[in-house]
Amino acid sequence: MKAITVEPKKPGSAQYEDFPEPEENEGSVLVEAVAVGVCGTDVEIVEGKYGWAPPGKTRLVLGHESLGRVIDPGPRSSLKPGDLVVGIVRRPDPVPCPNCAVGEWDMCTNGQYTERGIKEIHGFMSERWRIEPEFAIKVDSSLGILGVLLEPMTVITKALEQILLIGQRAYWEPKTALVTGAGPIGLLAALRLSVRNLQLHVLDRAETGLKPELVRALGATYHAGRVLDLDFSPDVIVECMGVGSVIADSVQKVGAGGIICLTGVGAGGVASRAVADVAAAAVLKNNVIVGSVNANKRHWYRAGQNLANSDREWLSRLITRREKPENFHQALERQPDDVKTIIQFSEV
Ligand SMILES: [Zn+2]
Repeated sequence: MKAITVEPKKPGSAQYEDFPEPEENEGSVLVEAVAVGVCGTDVEIVEGKYGWAPPGKTRLVLGHESLGRVIDPGPRSSLKPGDLVVGIVRRPDPVPCPNCAVGEWDMCTNGQYTERGIKEIHGFMSERWRIEPEFAIKVDSSLGILGVLLEPMTVITKALEQILLIGQRAYWEPKTALVTGAGPIGLLAALRLSVRNLQLHVLDRAETGLKPELVRALGATYHAGRVLDLDFSPDVIVECMGVGSVIADSVQKVGAGGIICLTGVGAGGVASRAVADVAAAAVLKNNVIVGSVNANKRHWYRAGQNLANSDREWLSRLITRREKPENFHQALERQPDDVKTIIQFSEV
């Protein structure tokens, strides 16, 4: 079969190449790839910044935002041939830490977890892949290709769960929410917040184009300026840019008793903004700044339900580009107005 592979930490090593069929020990469910979404993580692995091949191997199959069709469900699964499935990305660490021991591998405390397409397990950018039945999430068949959005949806499902849990620490009646960043994660956050009784605002750099259109289609207000220029103090901020100045501005701008959930991963920022000032702003307003990454099975299951209950026409506009596997390099190059690019292996 063919697969998109990389020699981790070796820039320029990514290839679409002949690759051995998935090994039986990778799972009893055999799946034909339909599509794989690409994100910044894939770009960084291809650039050689990080990534780990499976033990004893030199190359790693890329890809963690999967969608596939079951070829053979194997002996111990309730799946049927033809079912659409998405593969959970992370596997608990082998020790295991207390969180992995109870199935909350998203909260792993020792960092020894593994991740498909990223850390020590092959990803999903191959014509066929295998998965353990307990890590395969069945997708509502009517979603079709939109099932490829399930993995990004899990990130938001967990983040919003965290915000709701934190809100219970006091009497809490949030009225306004701000999402910073109108990429796939930010837009999915906006989608999920739009079904709640909140005044919803989304901020990004783009002045015009698809992102503002998608935000307005949710009944939300779009802003292209700075967080500090907003004329209200959000009760909830979901930060999806990972940009230092946006994060610092958010800490200053959030309302009293507010919650800022950070989902973006960046580097650097505003050195002029003293850390103690940022902290003082949080202390004096009882604010919580919480980081959120990855998702466990509860979030994957809920994300599948959330996706199935969402407006299909709106969701379909998030997939702005479909590339063939042999053109994966183009898929990894960001173009203006890209929201989600997918690599399509077969028709749904
Ligand atoms: Zn763990």
